Amino acid sequence: MTEQNKTARPRRGTRKEPPWRKAFLPLLIAAVVLVGAVLVTALRGGPGGLEHKTLPQRVQAELPDWVDQRLLTPNEYSRPGIPVTEVNAVVIHYVGNPNTSAEANRNYFEGLGITGETYASSNFVVGLEGEVIQCVPVDEIAYCSAQRNSDTVSIEVCHPDETGEFNDDTRASVVHLTAWLCVRFGLTAEDVIRHYDVTGKECPMYYVRHEDAWAALKTDVDVEILRLRTAEGQGK
Ligand SMILES: [Zn+2]
Repeated sequence: MTEQNKTARPRRGTRKEPPWRKAFLPLLIAAVVLVGAVLVTALRGGPGGLEHKTLPQRVQAELPDWVDQRLLTPNEYSRPGIPVTEVNAVVIHYVGNPNTSAEANRNYFEGLGITGETYASSNFVVGLEGEVIQCVPVDEIAYCSAQRNSDTVSIEVCHPDETGEFNDDTRASVVHLTAWLCVRFGLTAEDVIRHYDVTGKECPMYYVRHEDAWAALKTDVDVEILRLRTAEGQGK
């Protein structure tokens, strides 16, 4: 409304609403929309809010250098390239093939792309010397955990003998990798599950047969999550 119109209009008995009050509601709505848009952009895009990446994509980009990224060649049987948009759990497996290396297991998954023998893979394989190999990015599904393939990250673990128990070096890497993933995805040790918890399959065998060993592993993951969170909170 212009000043001219205002003066031209005859005065009424009731008090006229001041112009700032008329503008208040639209301004409030605009402010809420703006704050909401900034928050959504910041949450989705990370630092700067410029990149519209999902959390799994960002975690993939932040993988530490102790992870040996030896990604499988995209193929229908072990790396189908289907996106994962959220990660709600970390699933632990055992390879079931005593004394085989992380590399051998990774190469087996790679070979499935050629043989087409079966559908199988995992995001990570942890080896007998504690080495960590990544086969499938965490923002893509791996064929490992049945109906939970689409919202979990999977770790296949090597073991020296038929019992399926992890050796000390392997176990230490499993704990560290699992905790690192939990911190990045905002998960707790309660979100660390076994293949067994998804399908009832006896995997990882030793940790299905020995509930105390599984509980101890989860306790160690819990402690490691706390240690990582504390260290990162202190900017180390
Ligand atoms: Zn399994």
